[in-house]
Amino acid sequence: MSSTDAFLAAAQELLGPRGLSTDPEIVTPWLTDWRGRYTGRALALASPGDTSEVAALIKLCQQFEVPVVPQGGNSGMSGGATPDDSGKAVVLSLRRMNRVHQFDTEAHQITCDAGLILQTLHETVEAEGLRFPLTLGGKGSATIGGLISTNAGGTQVLRHGSMRAQVLGVEAVMADGSAFDSLTPLKKDNRGFDLKQLLIGSEGTLGIVTAATLRLVPALADRAVLWAGLSNIRDARKLLLFAQAYAGDALEGFEVMPRHALQSVLVYNAKARAPLEQQYEWNALIELAADSSGAEALPALAQSFLEAAFRQGLVEDATIAANEAQAEQFWTLRDEISPAERALGPAMQHDISVPVARMADFVAETVPKVENAFAGTTAIAFGHLGDGNVHFHVLAPAGAVPGEWEEADGKLISRFVHDEVTRWDGSISAEHGIGQMKRDELARLADPVHLSILRQVKTALDPKGLLNPGKLI
Ligand SMILES: Cc1cc2nc3c(=O)[nH]c(=O)nc-3n(C[C@H](O)[C@H](O)[C@H](O)COP(=O)(O)OP(=O)(O)OC[C@H]3O[C@@H](n4cnc5c(N)ncnc54)[C@H](O)[C@@H]3O)c2cc1C
Repeated sequence: MSSTDAFLAAAQELLGPRGLSTDPEIVTPWLTDWRGRYTGRALALASPGDTSEVAALIKLCQQFEVPVVPQGGNSGMSGGATPDDSGKAVVLSLRRMNRVHQFDTEAHQITCDAGLILQTLHETVEAEGLRFPLTLGGKGSATIGGLISTNAGGTQVLRHGSMRAQVLGVEAVMADGSAFDSLTPLKKDNRGFDLKQLLIGSEGTLGIVTAATLRLVPALADRAVLWAGLSNIRDARKLLLFAQAYAGDALEGFEVMPRHALQSVLVYNAKARAPLEQQYEWNALIELAADSSGAEALPALAQSFLEAAFRQGLVEDATIAANEAQAEQFWTLRDEISPAERALGPAMQHDISVPVARMADFVAETVPKVENAFAGTTAIAFGHLGDGNVHFHVLAPAGAVPGEWEEADGKLISRFVHDEVTRWDGSISAEHGIGQMKRDELARLADPVHLSILRQVKTALDPKGLLNPGKLI
């Protein structure tokens, strides 16, 4: 019996027919990433039912030197959950592990398996008058383990922080098959390095996250969603600062999009309506929100904020969603930018950040710079201005051949954008992670000391390099 067959037989015995499959019909759908950019091959799809099964499987992988690619909802944007094409790795799906272990409504904490889907978490805690304050477009697929492993962001980071800020405790199976348990949250704990923080954002390269304890906040009682038309991106920055000063903690989200992005959504979605009569160079989508303690005052706050913004000349035109349905329509305009632009043809997407205070200047200077350097392209920056993070998409010239353009001009454009970001002291991965997509760019651009520390940590915790090889570092 070959070593591979021996491994598969042992894994089959350990996990049973529900926990291990080599059937191409079951395995194949999980071998391509969400964007369809990467497809790999795998020895098998392993779906353990609990932490002890994950630990036993990882020990087997160590014994037989089988690489492991952890996978949650496979909604990641950087190809981090897709195996390479050697066919030697096992894809380790956490999706069967989706239980809630403990829900402390008084302490506002919940402990759950890594495979719990974000939307299910939202619904579970909302039923008890609480809220998990992180959301994103992939919430119907993304799992808690995937969100932790990519330190995901989304549209509420401005007020509540990214995943790192929501995680109070982590349980993870390390490369040697031991289970690291820090699920019990402690407000103060100075016993050395904060190992859970090391696992957050490690993209499955240091350990398999099996469970987490998360912080919750009171449920929203009301929200006001505003749409403002602006003449330039620097005014958006001024409006953001004004909103932060005026609305304080009530400011939940502040997203921007240029005219081109709104226009492409209006073309893509025939039911979509522009919130304002005229089209403006830039648009800001602002959400003010309150729990029950501030709900009564919220409509007046939204109204007076807008009046003050008009008086100060910060907006060209603006409106407040008349009801919840219209609020959702405003958000749909934001959420559909990516699919609407994909429908326009090939594009290079960059998830970048620069210091918050400099983002408006970065966009104003870099958009024309890219368009001048690469004739016929259109550069679109949209998203989380308040976090200093935009999605910087560069659309191909008309007539570009999909597939060919990305491999040739597309790669040069990405290098150009990443060089600019680095020059502005920014990051080439704000919230989507490095995965396999940006690994070479990280190696090219990161500070050598930073890279060396990343590699030393990886070698110390996974000496055989079996956890998610070819990703991140
Ligand atoms: C429509 C849409 C909108 C999105 N919007 C945003 C956004 O606004 N902000 C944002 O940050 N992201 C966004 N994303 C990206 C995505 O949802 C997040 O990256 C999410 O965290 C991935 O979760 P997942 O469970 O699907 O992980 P996967 O895609 O399965 O995996 C992602 C990475 O984490 C690793 N991993 C997964 N589970 C584990 C585990 N249990 N232990 C160790 N490693 C693990 C994988 O190996 C891989 O490296 C969006 C995605 C979609 C489809």
